[in-house]
Amino acid sequence: MLNRVAFLFYEEINMQSFNFSAGPAMLPADVMQQAQAEFLDWQGCGSSVMEISHRSKEFIAVAEKAEQDLRDLLAVPDNYKVLFMHGGGRGGFASVPMNLSQPEQTVAHLVTGSWSKGAVTESAKYANTHIIGTDVLIDGQKTLSKQTEWEWPEGDIAYLHYCPNETVEGFQIAQPPTHKGINLVADMSSNILSKPININDYACIYAGAQKNIGPSGLAIVIVHEDLLGQAQTCTPSIMNYAITAEYGSMYNTPPTYAWYLSGLVFQWLKDQGGLAAIEQINQQKAQTLYQLIDQSSFYQNNIAPQHRSIMNVVFNLPNSELETLFVKEAAAAGLHALKGHRSVGGIRASIYNAMPLAGVETLAQFMLAFEQSKG
Ligand SMILES: *Cc1c(COP(=O)(O)O)cnc(C)c1O
Repeated sequence: MLNRVAFLFYEEINMQSFNFSAGPAMLPADVMQQAQAEFLDWQGCGSSVMEISHRSKEFIAVAEKAEQDLRDLLAVPDNYKVLFMHGGGRGGFASVPMNLSQPEQTVAHLVTGSWSKGAVTESAKYANTHIIGTDVLIDGQKTLSKQTEWEWPEGDIAYLHYCPNETVEGFQIAQPPTHKGINLVADMSSNILSKPININDYACIYAGAQKNIGPSGLAIVIVHEDLLGQAQTCTPSIMNYAITAEYGSMYNTPPTYAWYLSGLVFQWLKDQGGLAAIEQINQQKAQTLYQLIDQSSFYQNNIAPQHRSIMNVVFNLPNSELETLFVKEAAAAGLHALKGHRSVGGIRASIYNAMPLAGVETLAQFMLAFEQSKG
């Protein structure tokens, strides 16, 4: 009952509180309102969109529009497949080596935080997995080891895998680390659609939806068509990119409601002016927080400026007691889910596309006030 009441007043609640959750994360208020309005009776058909067949012409239209809008936003060339899959981000940790390498082949990985580390552990089950470079601490600042110092294994390499935005550590690699024509694979679970990218730089991109796209349960894979059809024999059919492509992502029942809602988000992004416009706002939001941190001796972030994430801003206070108090008082002020990941502690403000500038400005005001009273 309480939830229902909260939902009715979504608009008012949203005006005074902001959700900084790392994932599943907040969605645009406009999208939530549209979904709410058509929840029980979608386009006059008397049912919810989640209650109709994925093979109905009505749902196929939803699915095709979502794919086309995603292609438009990212300028995906025709020779790439866009797949709507299950399995989230971690599903990609397994499906990438299964689809894009052979068991005896070597794959190269950059490890710059928790998620790229997780990708290595999973990949090792399916391919010869080598870590060629990592994050390093130089003059007290976290940065990426020099490309000239990366240790490449001998022989053929199926691809280089990296994570452009480490969600837990707030560490980004802004430019794709292209190297001698080696196929590049990126886990974009927490930064897809945050800025324009050149799809041609990548052989494959994958992302769980619940950070910067839509609800959990959906994963997006964008893969060059020339790489399909050579999956390892162990690959489950529902994780096979070629089969998924052949069946229009409907080999089995896809997560239809997540697909529909993600489609609303793609339309919303187009209405905002596309990815170049969203990137500007994202930069403005992130710089608001990083400037405040740099001008203060109370808040600390030790990541080299070019590697600071524009999606997940992490910082520390002088001690963990103050951090606990910060999280508690922020929540009381309507600023929710600011606790850092349990593995690293500290504070994390996740400010994906859906977070309005006003949310970040409110957080900045709170940070200044907190520092004044406790610093
Ligand atoms: C959240 C996240 C994942 C894991 O996603 P799941 O959908 O929970 O499997 C993987 N990679 C990155 C970069 C993430 O942020």
